[in-house]
Amino acid sequence: MMKLAVCIVFLFSLSDHGNCDPMSVAVTFDDLPAAGSEHPLITRKEVAKEIISVLEKHKVGKIFGFMNGSLAHGMSERLEILSLWKKHGFSLGNHTYSHLDLTKTSPSEFIQDIERNESTLIDFVADIPELKWFRYPFLQEGESNLKRYAVRSYLAKRNYKVAPVSIDFEDWNWNESYIRCSVKKTVKRFLSWKTHTLNTESPG
Ligand SMILES: [Zn+2]
Repeated sequence: MMKLAVCIVFLFSLSDHGNCDPMSVAVTFDDLPAAGSEHPLITRKEVAKEIISVLEKHKVGKIFGFMNGSLAHGMSERLEILSLWKKHGFSLGNHTYSHLDLTKTSPSEFIQDIERNESTLIDFVADIPELKWFRYPFLQEGESNLKRYAVRSYLAKRNYKVAPVSIDFEDWNWNESYIRCSVKKTVKRFLSWKTHTLNTESPG
């Protein structure tokens, strides 16, 4: 499944906890255009279309997808998903090319990977400010102050805005179970239909 369906993150901005003022919410999806195990009966593009149609049906406002170039490189269906995402007015941000974990990577390698991702993103974003939204993979900002400082100062120098996360459902954890149950259900339905058809067709 596309990890699009996997990591939904909401960013909240509450103006006053005591009042019922309108609440500003940004819905973001990580690891676009697709990640995780593939459903044997549903294509990645079908998953993307379904997600987009649900978001539109419920008139969800500002939506961002954080993209990894390595998940799309040389894969036409996945590049089409990115185009589809943009065609529906959703935004795209940088999530590094290879989804690197900064605790296991040097700052220079990490920075190089951010820049490598820009070369894919540039073909899809509407403008440079859109290109300059960034989310750390695994939400890891580095295990030492030195490393954190090196990457943060690079991002600031390049006018990147870091998208923090307020709520993370870790829904990617459900991918394998969802695929397993969904396939099982389809097979069960088919067998029941087949049995019914055979019974109906058999001479009385
Ligand atoms: Zn991610």
